[in-house]
Amino acid sequence: MLKTENITKSYNKVEAVKGVTLHVAPGEVLAILGSSGSGKTTLLRLIAGFERPDAGIVSIEGIDASSPIKMIEPSKRKLSMIFQDLALWPHMTVRQHIEFVLKKDKLSKNILNSEITTILDHVSLNGHNSRYPHQLSGGEKQRLAIARALASHANYLLMDEPFSSLDSMLKEDLQQLIIELKNKLHMGIIYVTHNIEEALVLADTIAVMNKGRLEQMDSKDKVLANPKNEFVRRLLRIE
Ligand code: ADP
Ligand code: MG
Repeated sequence: MLKTENITKSYNKVEAVKGVTLHVAPGEVLAILGSSGSGKTTLLRLIAGFERPDAGIVSIEGIDASSPIKMIEPSKRKLSMIFQDLALWPHMTVRQHIEFVLKKDKLSKNILNSEITTILDHVSLNGHNSRYPHQLSGGEKQRLAIARALASHANYLLMDEPFSSLDSMLKEDLQQLIIELKNKLHMGIIYVTHNIEEALVLADTIAVMNKGRLEQMDSKDKVLANPKNEFVRRLLRIE
């Protein structure tokens, strides 16, 4: 289980995230829904360990990973964050992206090769091993970013607005892939979006953010049937 407890972060005078408590389990998809500036990216960065909280705790599988006095570095957490701009490495091919991450495991050549094949199979990129990022479509770039995350043995995948730059066909492909990661690999997935339809398609659980606060976190059905307040009702356009 990945949890935050009362996590809080300010930048100078801006309170970006205020006392957010949430959790996600392996095999669960949590959508964090909120408008621009509501603190979604900051919350993901706090969970991933790129920001130190002013207050509160992030714990992963029962171990405290972030608190005001303790920070486990991002690469040592069983999670991987995919940034909004993907942050692919322009001078590395598809295969090299995966190889670079797996090198840390010091595998024999045969095992390394079969791991790379397995990972690229998960994201259907095996035909593109020697392409560079600029030779990939938007959807393929997304899938490469996911493959790189898989190579790091993440239990949890954090995605910041993963669908925003994709057309609707590619969106469906990527949504299918996320369902596979959840079901086949039993990953816990947190994805951030400002798009209500996107939150409704994949999420088991929806967390609604408003000005740094969590307004409601419940199963999708419960949020739709019992919006906690007027803000949630209006955001989700519930009659
Ligand atoms: P979202 O991802 O929901 O659009 P962000 O987490 O990016 O929201 O931002 C939340 C608030 O925190 C905004 O008011 C934003 O301007 C502010 N903020 C985010 N990052 C920084 C930063 N590094 N320095 C100062 N202010 C920031
Ligand atoms: Mg953002």
